[in-house]
Amino acid sequence: MKKIILSFVISTGILGLILLVPSCTQSPVSDAPNRALIISGQNNHNWQGSTPVLKQILENSGLFSVDVAQTPATGKDMSTFKPDFSKYQVVVLDYNGDSWPEVTKKAFEAYVSGGGGVVIYHAADNAFADWKEYNKMIGLGGWGDRSEKDGPYIRWRDGGFVRDTFPGRAGSHGPQHAFRVTIRDTAHPITKGLPAIWMHSQDELYSELRGPAENLTVLATAFADTANKGTGQHEPMLMTINYGKGRVFHTALGHAMGDAPYPAMECVGFIVTLQRGAEWAATGAVTQAVPEVFPTFNVESKWPLFRPLTLAEILSNLKDYKPGDTRYNLQDLTNYIRQNYDVGEKYATIEKNLLQFLEGTGSADAKNYICKELSVYGTDKALPVLKKLQKNEETAEMARYAIERITGVYTN
Ligand code: ZN
Repeated sequence: MKKIILSFVISTGILGLILLVPSCTQSPVSDAPNRALIISGQNNHNWQGSTPVLKQILENSGLFSVDVAQTPATGKDMSTFKPDFSKYQVVVLDYNGDSWPEVTKKAFEAYVSGGGGVVIYHAADNAFADWKEYNKMIGLGGWGDRSEKDGPYIRWRDGGFVRDTFPGRAGSHGPQHAFRVTIRDTAHPITKGLPAIWMHSQDELYSELRGPAENLTVLATAFADTANKGTGQHEPMLMTINYGKGRVFHTALGHAMGDAPYPAMECVGFIVTLQRGAEWAATGAVTQAVPEVFPTFNVESKWPLFRPLTLAEILSNLKDYKPGDTRYNLQDLTNYIRQNYDVGEKYATIEKNLLQFLEGTGSADAKNYICKELSVYGTDKALPVLKKLQKNEETAEMARYAIERITGVYTN
């Protein structure tokens, strides 16, 4: 039994570890180690489309439970918008809109300088052009009448970055297209182990960003080819900024306008760097492995996360699972159960589907993973099927483990 459990810990990483520790909390939502707050509600992009995707991406890492704080609509009274930042390890900005109340701005500055984590996502670097401390947090920004008065461009010259104070606008992009992202800091926890150059799916290539650029590290750039109405420069795409004791991860990637799908957000490169950047911002370290399906020099890789998968799709993806396969399919199932766990009718339906799967032709490893989930969430209704699995050598140990945890009766 120990051997099988151990292989699960290895194959499912932190998520598996947390779920398998017998003393873990029974709460279906509180076993993610970090709390994230997405701020949304106003944007020149489709925040109604992008915010659920960001939430799902963070949750699928297994590292975050995610709340969303929605501001009042454009032009409405903002005085009541006062999220409690202190409850979160990381605050993710999917926001480009009206100014926040002074008290909220001060609270945010105190949160970040005191050690809070921040993720700046795409057009959030267009926001708050007049908020001096915010501009220090984002390092570089665009539009909002930003210009040389707001700081330099950061340019790649002769193998290093230089500050370019040449007068000019801040913020531009050519037509959307797929483009290569080049890692410039291969030692940083966020980018360590990623392919040196990888093909990002169709996106806006944010260019000519400028700002204070203090305590800024450019992790990755993309070349804005003049053939595609670009600047002819290697433009910063992924950045970190230290603000006081706080850590900021800034991704210029991820354009989402109109209806889904959003190719830029489906790119595994976007997803993985967001997950890793958020973890680094929250904790200062990155524990997530780089998935095999990461895009390569020539080949895009998309993970259609713009909508939640159905349980049938998740189980279908899981059907042939074996150790060493991507953990995403496992995480999708765990998250689906967690998100829909209400000990009522909905969970009863989920359990019914899981039990059907266990009686079907899926791989033993997939069935063992589902036994593990049932050990946390299962009811007495699962026992007959689990007892059948106990008779099969490949699933016997995990089935017994689930039965023991459901019944509370341990056989050794
Ligand atoms: Zn955009």
